Amino acid sequence: MDQKLLPFAVQDVPRYTSYPTAVQFRSDFAPELADQWLRELSPETSLSVYVHIPFCRQLCWYCGCHTSVPNSYDRAARYVDLLVQDIRRTARLVGGKRGRVKHVHLGGGTPTYLDDFHIGEILEAVDKGLGLATDAEVALESDPRTLTAARAKALAFMGFTRVSFGVQDFATPVQMKINRLQTFGLVAAATDYLRQAGFTSINFDLMYGLPGQTEASVARTAQQAATLAPERLAVFGYAHVPWFKKHQKMISDADLPGVAERYAQARTIEAELGAAGYAAVGLDHFALPHDPLTVAAASGKLRRNFQGYTTDISDALLAFGASAIAETPQGFMQAARDTLQWSERVAAGANPVARGLMLTSEDRLRAAVIERLMCDFAVDYGALAAAHGFGADHFSEVPGKLAPAIAAGLASLEGTRVSVPPHHRLFLRSVAAAFDAHFTMAPNRHARAV
Ligand code: SF4
Repeated sequence: MDQKLLPFAVQDVPRYTSYPTAVQFRSDFAPELADQWLRELSPETSLSVYVHIPFCRQLCWYCGCHTSVPNSYDRAARYVDLLVQDIRRTARLVGGKRGRVKHVHLGGGTPTYLDDFHIGEILEAVDKGLGLATDAEVALESDPRTLTAARAKALAFMGFTRVSFGVQDFATPVQMKINRLQTFGLVAAATDYLRQAGFTSINFDLMYGLPGQTEASVARTAQQAATLAPERLAVFGYAHVPWFKKHQKMISDADLPGVAERYAQARTIEAELGAAGYAAVGLDHFALPHDPLTVAAASGKLRRNFQGYTTDISDALLAFGASAIAETPQGFMQAARDTLQWSERVAAGANPVARGLMLTSEDRLRAAVIERLMCDFAVDYGALAAAHGFGADHFSEVPGKLAPAIAAGLASLEGTRVSVPPHHRLFLRSVAAAFDAHFTMAPNRHARAV
């Protein structure tokens, strides 16, 4: 690794799945305001829906998600009852034309922890309350260890169009260190079940920086994953935050690769997937050339939201479940993280929002600049400032903020057009931080750049 890159690789920077980031959300956000924002949505607003299922069968030691292992299925069944109640309540507030829901994503946790009946109940509530578009993209995250041929058929029958598997690494020594044993054969069989059920869009998540991973292990995993031909892959660096996620204490610091090794692993995966015919999309995604994500990236239509990179162009994202974040034209609203607290609020017929943020016109401008940079690797921030009604000198501090990245070769600036060379995509977040009015260097506040 070039030593010039090192200070950027160890920086803690936001993932910029939103701007402002969730760190800025305010805890004095009133539930009445959240309801008002929902009522104010135009009847024509196109909608996207996220549903959070905070349950898993067992805990992976690397997990950074908001999840838990329930001691009985009854807890999950009760949670689904409340989800349905909250979806119906929101639908009454939103009203409007039917068939506006273009995207649905069930994430977690593990949505397939739920049985078919409960998954179907959630989808039915979304469809009856808000109205699924006939061509809606309906995705869910699934644990390949529990996916059967019958379940794959059931998911297709319910209307799911994409399934995402957590693969991470196929090497058994790595899997033992992260408490997630799943052979290549198991993932291959699960992928086959999906194909036989008619799925034409499958996503794999891979990771680098896990305990025991080496360049050789990630290269082999990427090669093996590519033989199964998922349409998309997302590649994330492991974030070791045991003071925040207690179960990560099961991972020994001594087993973790250093920053140069993490960088080499990320670049190795990139090279292997590139050699297998995948196009690099944004910071950390890969997709086959015909995939809509690749097409959107090539035509400047790629978007970034809380689920990462997407083709979703909906005007509002409605979110359901503990910790889920909604985004409307007015701002962000995050439901209570604590499942008990969330349950009590929903059971009482209240909006379960716990934090939120009203956007200013300045936030919208910065959000637009950061999103285009994260998606296109380049943005003319002067042109965007003018389009948003701001003066030419609005970002006068930016050249100074960008100077260290430019000196290291991570970015270049021509007039007000900043660009990042594609081979430095891993550092996109560090460059985007120059446009973040709230960003300060603070250790452990965000995830490390590499
Ligand atoms: S299955 Fe996913 S959400 Fe559940 S513990 Fe493992 S990594 Fe976390």
